[in-house]
Amino acid sequence: MREAKSGRILIERLAKGADLLPALTGICVREGITHGEVWAIGALARARVAYYDQTARRYKTLDIPEPCEIVSLVGNISLKDGEPFVHAHLAVGDEKGHVFGGHLVEGCEVFAAEYVIREYLVAAHLERTYDEPTGLALWKSEAGCQRSEQR
Ligand code: ZN
Repeated sequence: MREAKSGRILIERLAKGADLLPALTGICVREGITHGEVWAIGALARARVAYYDQTARRYKTLDIPEPCEIVSLVGNISLKDGEPFVHAHLAVGDEKGHVFGGHLVEGCEVFAAEYVIREYLVAAHLERTYDEPTGLALWKSEAGCQRSEQR
């Protein structure tokens, strides 16, 4: 387990037409936020999420090519290849309230979106590296965490 202190809290909205994930990543890069959390609500003109096929060990994309509500976007910010990396999951609802969701990828066109980014001040960087058992870029687990989870 790692500990962090809360740093800045950024509250703003994204421009209409922005691509959701690159826009959030760009804010982190511009503001020098390397660790933190993000959430957002709003609406999209179209959405795209991904589903990780655990057997094939690759992402499949799912397109929602119509206007939808951002029911929830929640994610974290850490480092990958030395750069701020936003890992977020998105749930969107259609006009009947049906919800689709998955791993946020590029290709979500913002209609309106309000976000909050909370910066974490950490003693040691959280860096994503390749994890052989899953095929994903994950945080390196500390030995103490693995031991306690096995009990
Ligand atoms: Zn994910």
